[in-house]
This record gives sequence, C-alpha cells and structure tokens, in this order.
Amino acid sequence: MRPDVLNPLFAPATGLDGIGAKTAALLNRLLPVPEGIEPRILDLLLLPPSGLIDRRNRPTIGQAVPGTLATVEVTVDRHKPAPAHGRAPYRVLCHDETGSLTLVFFHARADYLERALPVGEKRYVSGQVEAWGDMLQMVHPDRIVDAAGLAKLPPIEPIYPLTAGLKRATIVRAIDGALDALPDLPEWQSRDVMAKMRWPAFGEALQRLHRPQVPQDAALEGLAWRRLAYDELLAGQLALLLVRARTVKVSGVARAGTGELQAAITTALPFALTGAQRRSAAEIGADLSSGERMVRLLQGDVGSGKTVVALLAMAQVAESGGQSALMAPTEILARQHFKTLSEYASAAGLKVALLTGKDRQSERRKVREGLANGEIDIAVGTHALFQQDVAFRSLGLVVVDEQHRFGVHQRLALTAKGDRPDMLVMTATPIPRTLLLTLYGDMDVSKLDEKPPGRKPIASRALPDERIDDVVTAVGRAMQAGNRVYWVCPLVEESEAVDAAAAEERFAALSAIFPGRVSMVHGRQDLTAKQAALAAFQDGRTPLLVATTVVEVGVDVPEATVMVIEHAERFGLAQLHQLRGRVGRSDRASSCLLVYKPPLGETARARLEIMRETEDGFRIAEEDLKLRGGGDVLGTRQSGFPGFRLAQPAVHLDMLDMARDEARYIMETDADLKGERGAALRTLLYLFDRDHAVRLISAG
Ligand code: ADP
Ligand code: MG
Repeated sequence: MRPDVLNPLFAPATGLDGIGAKTAALLNRLLPVPEGIEPRILDLLLLPPSGLIDRRNRPTIGQAVPGTLATVEVTVDRHKPAPAHGRAPYRVLCHDETGSLTLVFFHARADYLERALPVGEKRYVSGQVEAWGDMLQMVHPDRIVDAAGLAKLPPIEPIYPLTAGLKRATIVRAIDGALDALPDLPEWQSRDVMAKMRWPAFGEALQRLHRPQVPQDAALEGLAWRRLAYDELLAGQLALLLVRARTVKVSGVARAGTGELQAAITTALPFALTGAQRRSAAEIGADLSSGERMVRLLQGDVGSGKTVVALLAMAQVAESGGQSALMAPTEILARQHFKTLSEYASAAGLKVALLTGKDRQSERRKVREGLANGEIDIAVGTHALFQQDVAFRSLGLVVVDEQHRFGVHQRLALTAKGDRPDMLVMTATPIPRTLLLTLYGDMDVSKLDEKPPGRKPIASRALPDERIDDVVTAVGRAMQAGNRVYWVCPLVEESEAVDAAAAEERFAALSAIFPGRVSMVHGRQDLTAKQAALAAFQDGRTPLLVATTVVEVGVDVPEATVMVIEHAERFGLAQLHQLRGRVGRSDRASSCLLVYKPPLGETARARLEIMRETEDGFRIAEEDLKLRGGGDVLGTRQSGFPGFRLAQPAVHLDMLDMARDEARYIMETDADLKGERGAALRTLLYLFDRDHAVRLISAG
C-alpha cells in the first residue's frame, strides 16, 4: 500500500555503507525509533544536524579566540608523548609566526600521531580552540590535513547529536549514503505555498540541511528546515483530521471494575496517595468504566508518582477480567517498572511479567503462554511486547511510558493486540495545553501537579569548575551521611573521544578519592555491566555513580540526594530539569550542583539562573520555549516535542495555523486523497509516519 517510490527510504539503514548491526543498534539510541526496531534510511534523513562546523574561520594563532571553532595553519615543532603512567595526555607543540598552539590527545596512538603530524611540516588543524592558562590549545582536533586535504574539506560541515560509541564520521557517511538513495518525489505542497514561501523541494531541502553551503541552509529558521518542518506539521494536522473524520467516537469496552484490587493495593502502599494522584486515578477510572475508548495523557514531572496511578488503572482492568501492558522505551526502564509494579501489585495478587528483547528463549516462551492463557495480568516490557508472536488473552489497557521516544501517532498501532484497548500515555514533558490540542488532537489530560508529601525542595547551585574540590568535599559528606550521589558527565558532539575519556577520567579520579565506592555507567558498556553498576548503586555498595547522559538515569533511587552535573552549561533546560528530578525523592534534603566552565554565554547563564529559581516543570518548559525561540542551538534538540522530528514548536509555531488551514482545505476538497495532489499527500503521510491515517481511508 505504501507508494513504491518510497521503498528505498524505508529500507533498513544497515543497507548503507559502513552501517553494520552494531552501528544500527547505536543509531537506535539516537533516532526516535523504539529500541530494537531497525532504523530506516528515512530515519537518518530526518535527523537534523544539531550544529555546524564552519571551517571558513581561518585565523592565525594570534587571532584565534578561545571557545570558538577554528582552522589554523601550523608548523609542527615537537611531540611530547604521554607518560606511561598517570593521566597526562599526549601533546604536540606547534606554532605559526604569531604564536604557539598545543594539540592535546587522550588515549592517543603515537604511531598515528607521528604520521599525521610530522615534525617540521605544515598542517591544518581544525577544532575548538581553548585557553589553558596563558597558552592556547586544541583538544582532539577533528581534522588534521595537509594543503591538499584542506582543499577537499567542505567549508561547512553539519554535526549531529552523538551517542556514545558512535563516531561522527560514521553518521556523516551514512547520511551521505541516505541522500544518494533519495528518490524523486512528487510535490505535495500547493503551488501557491511554494511560490509564496520560495521553498526548495523536499529532496533539495534535505540536501541543503545535510550538505549546507551556507550556515542558513541548516538553520532552524532557514528555508530548507522551515519547509521540512512545515511538511511535518501538515502531515500531523492532516492525519488528525483524517482520523477524526473516520472515528468520530471510537467505541471501546466498559471496564468498570469492583474497586477490590485497587483497594488492596492502596492499603498496602507504604504511603498515602497525593490529591493529584487520587484525582488522576479517578479520571482514568471513569474513562475505563465508560464505553468510549480512552486516549489519555498522564502528565507529571519526574518523581511525581505516575507509576502508581498507572498501576491503579491496571488493577481496575484486572478487576473486570482484562490484562494490561506497560511499554517502556528502554530495557533498563522496563526492568525498573517491572520491579516497582511487582512489589506494589503483589498485595492484590496480580501477576506481573517482564518481556524484553533479551530474555532467554525458555523464559520468553513461559511469558508468552501466560499472556495467551490470561494467567499474567500485567506485562511490562519494551517493544518486544508487540512482536508478532505475542498474543494476549484479553488486552484491555495499553500504558506507554513515553519519555520522548515514541510518536503519539505510532502508538495507535500498538493497540491492535487487544479488543479496542484503552490507552494511557505517561509523559514527563510538560507541554502547554494549547499546543497539545493543536499538535496531538483531542487527547484527555490528567496532570500530576503535586509532589508526594514530605519532599524537601532541592537546593540548586551553580559553581565554576575551578571549585570542583568543594564539590568533591560535598559529595564525600553526603556519602558519609549514608546518601547516594549521581555524577553526570555530558556527551559533547564535537569530540566523542574526549567525552568518553572525560567520563573515565572522572571515574578514575573519584575512585582514587573514594576507593571502592564508585561505579560507572556509560553507553559503551553492555547491558550486564550497566545493570551491575546500577545494582551496586541501588543497594548502596557504591554510593557514587558516575554516568554519561546517554545512559538512562531513569532509575528510581530514593536514597540519592546529590546530583552533580558537570559542564552544566552544555545542557538544555529540559534535560537539566529531568536530571535534577533524579534526586529529591525522599524526605531527606537534596541538592543539585551545576558545575560549569566559564565564561558562560548569555543563554547558558539564563538557563542556570532558572534552574536555581524554580523546580516547577511547567514554568521551566515555558522559559525553555522562550530561550529557544532566541535561537539556542545546542539546547534545541533535547526538548523537541514527542512525535516530531524536525518541527520545533518554539521556532516554527507561526506555521502551525497555516498547516491547520491547509489540512482543512484538503479535507474539504479531496478527503479521500484521490487526485494527483492527494497521491502526493499520501506520500507525505508515510514519510512522517502518519500512515495509520492512510489506512483509515482505505478501510473506508
Ligand atoms: P514518575 O514515574 O512520575 O517519575 P514514580 O512513579 O517513579 O515517578 O515515583 C517516584 C517515587 O515516588 C517512587 O519511589 C514512588 O514509590 C514514590 N511515590 C509515589 N507516590 C507517592 C506518594 N503519594 N507519597 C510518597 N511517595 C510516593
Ligand atoms: Mg517514571
């Protein structure tokens, strides 16, 4: 049913040069595809760059400004290899007629560096210039070329968000291959709009985005990105209208329940429900009891207690003889949910099972049987839950813990496993209601706007990195008092080698100070190593956990009271807020130490200021919109809206009305998408994963 012309784009990304199964798995973390689903070539094309390297900046050493990217011509003077022991890096000293520059390499291979940087020769090095005392240095230049190589360097290169273990060159090469696979597509935008906006065609827009000739080509406000964002908004609006036209009231199944199991659970809980939890549970309960299909969003900050609310809904479904499934975006989160739910649900005699992509065959068979014969009441898992071979006896409720990964629209497909099951989506993204309605249509919303009682406010402080010793002292004190500490090292896009090195170095340094008390999780570990580290942290054997953000710190450890965030200036507000939410989960006083590297830019300063001022997720979301409206590139991607890849409501908001009007017009003139433009619009719906709407048309 999918137009054939799209086949090359829907082919798995593993078909591209340089993308093997391992790289595909890494890509999976980066692209908005659920864990375990194979990323497609299309997913790569729709991954926007997170920034640009402008190699046209060609200062002399004397002119180079610390903190900027520069391409500098140098003469190599001397190699100073790293000492065999200790953590000092390999250094290469260089100069030009205006000054000297030191190149710094961690974990470097000497033979490689000797070849790349022969003493006495001229080379061009490109990377971030930094001040080190009164010296200038460049850590891991990302290009080292001679004059011939320089001539071949593109003047502007896009950079992409990275995930640990994934090299930038790999992504760039894959996207290059993806661009080559791009077929000619029919134009789905109207002639009027195209003429008025002076937009490039879809394919041309993708070319510009990924192979920019000028910075504007890959800018959020540039013509190329705006066109693609508008495509996405139009696909979304059109899908909403198509769905609405066909399913005015989707009838569901009334699952009234007896209240018995719910009561058993609430009685056994070690705490009383908050007012917001009770209100939300009642709203959900009423939906479940009614004969209409529920599609409800449960919004609440990290730590607001969404899990219990979901459990109460599941209990009600069980009371009326149905099963529930909870889907988490990653295996670690699935395990965490499984553990919590099993604990709470046992009081009611509910049987909970875990299903992930990594279970043993025999284990998996047992769970599948239990689901098929109805023995299991609640299934927790990843996408594995919705694999072909999994059947439920009577799936009545699907809960999706969303955490930015799945599009709202794609979830509809998941409900196919049951008899018109109800649907609850849990999210910690505080989306303002007006935007919610426009972007996602008529979803009901329950809000957990009240923290569990007894929680003390989290004291947040921003400190320059020269005060790291004070931070270490504070960490030591917290551990002495029996508390746990998270220490987050960021992943920066420019230089993944430096990042991994930075995390490991921090781990080594902290282990030297607190021997045997530190564990570490990062993206390069396999699941077993990750789990071991998390378990040691959870049960207190290692009360200090060093982590990179690529690792879900979505774990619930109430004893954690200190969150250290290194290079806090590199994070977006939403991400800082999410990270901070990992502490302050008990009645102990908690703190968040935002360690930054001066000098702070204006936006970064504003972000840290807001973090110190408030813990209110909705307020933070609003401020975030404002700041990002100001064109803050680095923070941008981290808090896009779930289900959208390119459209950034803060920046592209002005096109939302236009998209809605256009979608209405299409519905009035060609609601079955039959004409020539209709066919092109179907293509558009497929491209942005809104094809469930196309299926509705065909079903009549
Ligand atoms: P969320 O999923 O919204 O981030 P969780 O459901 O993981 O939050 O809950 C966070 C923590 O708060 C858990 O340890 C949970 O047991 C606890 N909790 C939930 N509700 C309450 C409550 N009403 N009173 C005290 N603690 C609660
Ligand atoms: Mg949660």
